Amino acid sequence: MIIEPRTMLFMTNAVAFVASAFLLFEWHLLRERSLAYWSAGFAAIVVGCAITPLREAGFFIAGVWLANGLLVLAHLAFLFGTTAFLSRRISPAWCLVLPAWGLMLAIPDGASRTQILSLMNALLVAVLSLKSAQMLGGLRGHRNPDSTLLAYAFLGHGGFYLFKTLTAFVPGAFISLSNYSGLMISISLFEGIMMEVALALSIVVALRQRRERSIVRLAEHDPLTGLLNRRGFEARARAALAEEAGPDALLLLDIDHFKQINDGYGHPEGDRLLVALGVFLNSTLPRHAVWGRLGGDEFAVLLPKTDTFAALTLAKALCSGFARVGGRGDGGTLSVGCATHAGGAVELEALSAVADRALYDAKRQGRNRASHREVAAESQAWDRALPEAAPRVKTPIDLAKAREALPLR
Ligand code: GH3
Ligand code: MG
Repeated sequence: MIIEPRTMLFMTNAVAFVASAFLLFEWHLLRERSLAYWSAGFAAIVVGCAITPLREAGFFIAGVWLANGLLVLAHLAFLFGTTAFLSRRISPAWCLVLPAWGLMLAIPDGASRTQILSLMNALLVAVLSLKSAQMLGGLRGHRNPDSTLLAYAFLGHGGFYLFKTLTAFVPGAFISLSNYSGLMISISLFEGIMMEVALALSIVVALRQRRERSIVRLAEHDPLTGLLNRRGFEARARAALAEEAGPDALLLLDIDHFKQINDGYGHPEGDRLLVALGVFLNSTLPRHAVWGRLGGDEFAVLLPKTDTFAALTLAKALCSGFARVGGRGDGGTLSVGCATHAGGAVELEALSAVADRALYDAKRQGRNRASHREVAAESQAWDRALPEAAPRVKTPIDLAKAREALPLR
């Protein structure tokens, strides 16, 4: 199968046109600056392809120099799209690639002009593409999971153009730019079509992944404190509990007399106290803990692989530490219910129910303190509280009544 270079050029133009129009439409919907740059990059390729046939009519400057210069401009626009996508800055020195291309006009019309132009063109495109790949791939420890595919697309494209640079003076690779003669010219046109499709798809994937992540982030975080909300906390806590076999601990934290703080100092002051508790937890809790705001003035902390002594020590430290931060005589301190489980599988619900009871104990005993209950002992207490014939009882068990019947410690 032989595909004629002019046909490939036409297809390159058509694909670039669709990609540019599609990304422009996306920009119109999403108003992401990166999309405008990327769309402009494909538009530059469209114009470059459109004027390329002028070289066959003898217009070397427009058909070769300007057309190839537009390809360099397109990759500069892609690089700007990359920096906009990553919200990063790039040195204006990168714009020097354009005057560098301008210098190519000074090359005298001689035997090596095709090779030198091809080499310079390929080198500039390679450098710009590899820079995009490096920024998107997140070298030097900054990983960008959304843009991995796009980074590979730029890496493959940049790598191909680097290879093209090396072949500039290989006999037969570039014979004449004016009539598309040379093996590397045909291969390059083919690669161009593949690259356009790969880049356009990867751009859409990168943006979609980033938007999805930000939606999930919004759904799983509390806007006031920035901590995980109930949904986010429960998902992570369940995953952490499934990962290991204990011992585990769950702390339920509730601010004392928070209503009075709202009433006495105003709702904004109440909000500030909630934010202060979030900051306090972020700076105090160990890295392996999972914590979040369940709602209102209630917070939860899961401590995987933590025994009773360590959990209770931390719970007490949280109480005394936050009393210094938020305590104001008439409230603002913390009550903590601490539930522990010695080992083996345990459900989050079981830990929560026991921690809730321990929190109730702490409130009942005077607040600004931590109280502890053990999950296994608690479930035995439940067994004792329920009548022998409970499983055969047809009417549903009244949990509130059953709770009252439990022996409180
Ligand atoms: P207790 O010591 O028994 O916990 O008493 P309390 O007054 O703290 O009672 P409770 O925990 O039930 O109070 C929760 C209050 O939190 C009720 C509600 O008005 C307030 N609240 C819930 N969400 C917010 C919020 O986002 N900001 C503020 N400022 N207040 C909130
Ligand atoms: Mg409270």
